[in-house]
Amino acid sequence: MANEIKSKIILHWNCRGLVELPEVIRLHGSHIKEIYLKWNKLTTLPPWIMELFNVTNLYMYGNLIKQLPAELGRMKQLTVLDLSANKLEQIPCCIGNLRNLKCLFLNDNFIEKLPVELSQLSNLQILSVSGNQIVALPEWTGSLPKLKELYADNNRLKELPNRLTLAPELTMISVCSNRLTYLPLNGFLSSPFIGFDANEYLNYVSYPLLFQFLSQLRTTALDNRSCLAFGCFKTHYDTNVLSTNIKLYIEMKGLYENDTDVIIELPRQLLKIHEFHKNVTCSLWELALRKIYTERYKHTLDVFTSPLSVTILYSPLPKDTKLDFMLSTMNCTLYNLLTNGPVSVCVNSHCQQPIFTEAWIIIGISHHVKSMITIALCCSKSCASAFATHSSTFNKLHWYPIN
Ligand SMILES: [Zn+2]
Repeated sequence: MANEIKSKIILHWNCRGLVELPEVIRLHGSHIKEIYLKWNKLTTLPPWIMELFNVTNLYMYGNLIKQLPAELGRMKQLTVLDLSANKLEQIPCCIGNLRNLKCLFLNDNFIEKLPVELSQLSNLQILSVSGNQIVALPEWTGSLPKLKELYADNNRLKELPNRLTLAPELTMISVCSNRLTYLPLNGFLSSPFIGFDANEYLNYVSYPLLFQFLSQLRTTALDNRSCLAFGCFKTHYDTNVLSTNIKLYIEMKGLYENDTDVIIELPRQLLKIHEFHKNVTCSLWELALRKIYTERYKHTLDVFTSPLSVTILYSPLPKDTKLDFMLSTMNCTLYNLLTNGPVSVCVNSHCQQPIFTEAWIIIGISHHVKSMITIALCCSKSCASAFATHSSTFNKLHWYPIN
């Protein structure tokens, strides 16, 4: 074994029945760069693993690992870490120290929660947590600056983080087989491909997202798909789900295929909604949020009625811009709302104000791919009326809130 180690840079020790990492590698393996330990019987790693300071790729798929030593966090050179198909119930916080990590695979474990320490992985490009028991992805996943691919299929997700819409580099999100009742209402800044088949409680998409999906359908080989996602957009709603989110009862009046009225659930950020003809004023709180956000970011979302083009532009103000408020003095709710981004921007293309907690809602049916419910958010009554008049894609439906 010592000779094997000495002669190689990459160790292929898959399927060897190993119950622990042989200590011989500690003596002779300081030059090793990659270690494959797939399909062994390891239950943990020894603390001296950190002495293998040239290892950049560590593959431990299909072992029996329940716990990991804190010393793993000292392997700062690691770029790929695969801990999939093990027995992990918790992700050790020390992984947050692996600042050079580009790919982290944690699929098929028993994880319920991702620790906040992972938000420090500023070089992470692929995060894969499919096949776990995760109920919510943290908002900070949308702040990982280099994240390109996010896989969270087969979990228990009920919603996606709003901040994910602002992630700059995302090209792929896969969240099939979850319990999503809604997708973010805002368009995604980086227009990633989103796989969301088999979310049986998902029964609508927002107007900006719909057009983003449609432009993808047209530019990719997905043309022959007859719908955006399989196993979604059914008309039933899980009435057993307890949530305080606003739900809308929509009267279909025979417009939809099987004539059933529909209940949709709105994202929890939305606290107050108005029908498009209702003449009420916005709360000061909402106006303040819009103002602060607009001062802090330039954020526009161009949604054209043609599904061929959706452009989202979003850029923080230049660093030397003087702002007349301090984030440190804000309360937590305000801070979270601002950093997680608006729930949508006004769909009136002349306006595009950010919307945080309060909106005028227009509900219609899109027939672009398949008849499906779509909702458009406006910042005010006048924007809602203007949009409702000009938008031909909307058969405006009547609704009332229930809770
Ligand atoms: Zn507006």
